[in-house]
Amino acid sequence: MDYDLGIYLHIPFCRRKCNYCDFLSFVPSPETVTAYLEALKQEMALAAAAWPRLTSFPLPSVTSVYLGGGTPSLLSGEQLQDVLDGLRRHFGVAPGAEITVEANPGTVDAAWLAAAEAAGANRLSLGVQAFNDRLLGSMGRLHTAREARDAVSLARECGFSNVGIDLIYGLPGQSLADWRETLAEAVGLVPEHISCYGLEIHPGMPWGVLAARGEISLPDEDLWEEMFGFTDSFLTGCGYRHYEIANYCRPGRESRHNLRYWQRRDYLGFGLGAASMVGCRRWRNHEKLPAYLAALETGKLPVADGEEMTVAEVLAEVFILGLRLLNGLDLERAAREFPEADWPRVRQTIARLEAVGLVERCGPVLRLSRRAWPVANEVFAEFLG
Ligand code: SF4
Repeated sequence: MDYDLGIYLHIPFCRRKCNYCDFLSFVPSPETVTAYLEALKQEMALAAAAWPRLTSFPLPSVTSVYLGGGTPSLLSGEQLQDVLDGLRRHFGVAPGAEITVEANPGTVDAAWLAAAEAAGANRLSLGVQAFNDRLLGSMGRLHTAREARDAVSLARECGFSNVGIDLIYGLPGQSLADWRETLAEAVGLVPEHISCYGLEIHPGMPWGVLAARGEISLPDEDLWEEMFGFTDSFLTGCGYRHYEIANYCRPGRESRHNLRYWQRRDYLGFGLGAASMVGCRRWRNHEKLPAYLAALETGKLPVADGEEMTVAEVLAEVFILGLRLLNGLDLERAAREFPEADWPRVRQTIARLEAVGLVERCGPVLRLSRRAWPVANEVFAEFLG
């Protein structure tokens, strides 16, 4: 595989915070948006100039770009074009590169979608979450199921032939019937990609506070597993390929950018709190806007912290990320790439997990067993030891 690069651009703006939000996002003023986008372009220029100090490889071409958030669809068409032009000024974006823009239903119209397409976006990832107005309301989403359906139709009319839909299960008050209905509606729209994330509650989010006080009730473990199991059988039965624990696609429509993360291939992240990884080195930007802007105003990259990973840490990551993929990971290749790793210990871990049926081997490939999917995080923890 040729050496290439992925670029993530973080757009941390939202109209309002959702009750389950754990992303770095806030409600901005128009002046903040302008200042942020200028800083983002400055960061890209500085990072491209700094590349030769990072590695001896020449700056590779970019084969995937992902604008995530936040809500990138809150940018105007001109702002989106300006950001992508800024990227192309400093990085060589390969012909045919996948360029994904996340969008929320209710924030997109035909003019915006046409502008996004004209700016070079060729993949749209829609944060639908549920086709159920009661659940959308309780999540604090600002759109309806109808607006989600309309957004998909409009995207098609505006030329997007690669559309992904994000959904969430395990919501407070969500029954198995609700989830089945949401999945059926999603499939009815024939998207190329469907992501199904299980809700995770953290203390900092509004629902985290309510859950700690016992004021919302979450689906129990059995219902959760039923939802997970139904998702797999239903979507694969509808012709979607289950290629990562939470991700399904039409053949050949995997998210190329997200595959990069799971295959542990290099990426640069620009914007507030964005993470980057090149080889064994990884770093993260400031998460506070004043610190991010101040660094760039003085001509410095806005890096808050970083580290050079040890071989053991890199290998643990290779296992944890690679096992998320249903194709698994190639043990022979890992052994060739990391000959100095503590392989006797790694093999013991694999043997232990194999004995209890949580991983399985097929030639040189190691992958999670089906019964390990719902408890994947526990399996991954075994490789951290
Ligand atoms: S739209 Fe997404 S990023 Fe914005 S508040 Fe809701 S969950 Fe968070």
